[in-house]
Amino acid sequence: PRYVYRFGGGVSDGGRGDKNLLGGKGANLAEMASIGLPVPPGFTIGTPMCARYYQEGERFPDSLAAEVTQGIAHIEQVTGKRFGDPADPLLVSVRSGARVSMPGMMDTVLNLGLNDETVQGLAATSGDERFAWDSYRRFIQMYADVVLGLDHGAFEEALEVAKEDRGLTLDTELSASDLQELVAEYKQLVRDQWSRDFPQDVHDQLWGAVGAVFGSWQSERAKVYRRLNDIPGDWGTAVNVQAMVFGNMGDTSATGVAFTRDPSTGERAYYGEFLINAQGEDVVAGIRTPQYLTRAAREAAGAKPASMEEAMPELYAELTRVFDTLERHYRDMQDIEFTVERGQLWMLQTRSGKRTAKAALKIAVDMATEGLISEQEAVLRVDPAALDQLLHPTLDPDAPRDVLTKGLPASPGAASGAAVFDADTAEKRAAAGEAVILVRTETSPEDIHGMHAARGILTARGGMTSHAAVVARGMGRPCVSGAGSISIDVKTRVMRVAGREVREGDRLTIDGSTGEVMLGEVATVQPELAGDFGTLMEWADKTRRLRVRTNAETPADCKTAHEFGAEGIGLCRTEHMFFDAARIAAVRQMILASDEPGRRAALDKLLPEQRDDFAEIFLVMAGLPCTIRLLDPPLHEFLPHEEAEFADVAAATGLDVEQLKRRAAELHEFNPMLGHRGCRLGVTYPEIYEMQARAIFEAAIEVATRTGQAPIPEVMIPLVATRRELELMKAVVDRAAEAVFAEKGRRVDYLVGTMIELPRAALRAGEIAEVGEFFSFGTNDLTQTTLGVSRDDAGRFLSAYVEQGIYAKDPFVSLDVEGVGELVSLAAERGRGTRPDLKLGICGEHGGDPASIAFCEQVGLDYVSASPYRVPIARLAAAQSAL
Ligand code: PEP
Ligand code: MG
Repeated sequence: PRYVYRFGGGVSDGGRGDKNLLGGKGANLAEMASIGLPVPPGFTIGTPMCARYYQEGERFPDSLAAEVTQGIAHIEQVTGKRFGDPADPLLVSVRSGARVSMPGMMDTVLNLGLNDETVQGLAATSGDERFAWDSYRRFIQMYADVVLGLDHGAFEEALEVAKEDRGLTLDTELSASDLQELVAEYKQLVRDQWSRDFPQDVHDQLWGAVGAVFGSWQSERAKVYRRLNDIPGDWGTAVNVQAMVFGNMGDTSATGVAFTRDPSTGERAYYGEFLINAQGEDVVAGIRTPQYLTRAAREAAGAKPASMEEAMPELYAELTRVFDTLERHYRDMQDIEFTVERGQLWMLQTRSGKRTAKAALKIAVDMATEGLISEQEAVLRVDPAALDQLLHPTLDPDAPRDVLTKGLPASPGAASGAAVFDADTAEKRAAAGEAVILVRTETSPEDIHGMHAARGILTARGGMTSHAAVVARGMGRPCVSGAGSISIDVKTRVMRVAGREVREGDRLTIDGSTGEVMLGEVATVQPELAGDFGTLMEWADKTRRLRVRTNAETPADCKTAHEFGAEGIGLCRTEHMFFDAARIAAVRQMILASDEPGRRAALDKLLPEQRDDFAEIFLVMAGLPCTIRLLDPPLHEFLPHEEAEFADVAAATGLDVEQLKRRAAELHEFNPMLGHRGCRLGVTYPEIYEMQARAIFEAAIEVATRTGQAPIPEVMIPLVATRRELELMKAVVDRAAEAVFAEKGRRVDYLVGTMIELPRAALRAGEIAEVGEFFSFGTNDLTQTTLGVSRDDAGRFLSAYVEQGIYAKDPFVSLDVEGVGELVSLAAERGRGTRPDLKLGICGEHGGDPASIAFCEQVGLDYVSASPYRVPIARLAAAQSAL
């Protein structure tokens, strides 16, 4: 097989469609070259080599050498330089490039091809001795770190000492001969630490770097990043070898990064940062504070240093033409890296830019409005899970706040939590359930687990494209970066800002949309659901087939869900209404009663309360179907467990403590999830279900009479395993309905159906559908019972299962399509076989999970039901799954 693919100089062996083979970077370099954009020539070693490299014990197959030689020859031919030529050397960069970008996770080597001889040639051809020695110095330092794995700190220290000895503060003040001396010291450091000389053979250098890039695929941080982002370990990375271009060849050179639209807000404006006389890494690393790309952005920020638009107007104009070409060509917002070498513009990278949910939404809607993409493409462009960022509260503009300082608004949204100063502490405290804000001088890829665990991220250094900013936006974490007035003492765990001290654990609030950093917690307000959000949802609604309902029982939740577009209630868990402090006494009285008349007396007290609950829900959901599930949990859940509570409860129920304890002990179950719960309660105590059914029908008739619009109750029986159970329970419900209709002299339409949440029910769905008029898949219990994994205890071991790939994702979060899914589709088929118009829905947590929703679409369910905040996510996911 072939492994090497060339690009540049009028040649393109690949293109944008080859991401799996060439990685994102390589595919797009080839694509840019093929549409005539200025790309330094190079070649890509395809991703299959990564797997092969590991298979062969971290060695390369012999055949690769000849291909790489041809690749180098291609670069030599286009540039007219030769690799290792002492007179006019070709220098290359060696970079990673996986199918999807993994920012900062893998290794890069720049300026490769320099040695004691070629450095002289570079000095001669560039006419800049200082530049040549600085490049060599940087190369040794990078190579020692990345390829040789030597102690990075020693090189940094040598650089600091070199400056100190000469009384200098900036790297740029070091002269050519200073740098030459530093190179000698660096080579000595390599010899000391590695017991060998720094490799002078440029081919050895190249193979070392290529090996290091493949090696970095299995680095710890890359593995963590893949786990967090669901990237399979067997994809591998490609390696891109490309002619160097220099942004640090004086004041007509520059380097920068740009987005064709604002990645934070989605605004249609070029957006970016650049640095004159600098190398690419300087911008991203946040070492020098970059300048703005556009004049408008510079003015808006009140910054002094000239923007690129002002400092290099012609190159800026050329760059914006490239932006437009790329946007039209890719039909998406692009994230671009470029370099200007002595007045010549070069494109080093383009890719679809990472963006906040807010920007994703605006860009999708704008591009559809501009005619660049269709409405349906716009629907596909927004990640449903990312909508979550938009649906949550933002800071109340009128709330009092104690502003400590202001940084850059790097990733929008508000977050409050305890200040922590290192990633491990962030992870630990978050795991214990605490909200934390990770505060760092700057972040590096090593901090990624802490960033993920934190609610928000605050850094003292770095721009809008710093590591912290890029990663936070990708993760959807609010972030304020470059808050320069902050200093952090990690040892004493104190942060100082404007003469004040914040200790670890003190509450902080950050607003990633304004850059404000505040002491304490600041009140929040609900998000705006109109505008672009409303537009995209409208397009999604036009596209989807699946209906979207909500799991809710309080009027407030029902209202929220209704505003979010819920088309009815998919699950009202009536037991939640029993826990109310005012009602629990009657509930307990019912449980503790020793006979039916006793239970009925207690139920009579609960009836009006339940009726009012249902009436409120029917009012909010006027004219929409409402599935109300009869009592499900085991009764002992309502009894006290703590010694201290027994006396109070005994007094309230008129029993003595001993009696009460005896009754509680009688109700104790070894395995309550498989115990006396669900319809088993109805089978043994039908008067409970009778009361609930009565409350439902009385409420329905009351609302119908009052509003003229009859609600559509769907009475649902939980935990059914057999046809007979459902038949008995349906009879209870029908009798209650007929009794109420007779009393009130009025009828309402209703359905009686069942949850399918036990494997037996799924298997016997054909006969259960003879009785049940609808099925709702309770995939929480169905997962629990199919996998034999307790939903309440799984947390302790399930992550190990996911880490080892036994289940791809937590099966309680994303449906186990192969196992539980098979039962769902089988039940759907058998149920519809009996009753073609059987209504089918899902009300387990999976109803709000995009991947599970795609499965529901495939099986042909009628609706999914999700918790209120996930209703919009479900609407969008349903639309995407229909496309
Ligand atoms: C289910 O089991 O999926 C379900 C929705 O019911 P609950 O979570 O209340 O058991
Ligand atoms: Mg259940």
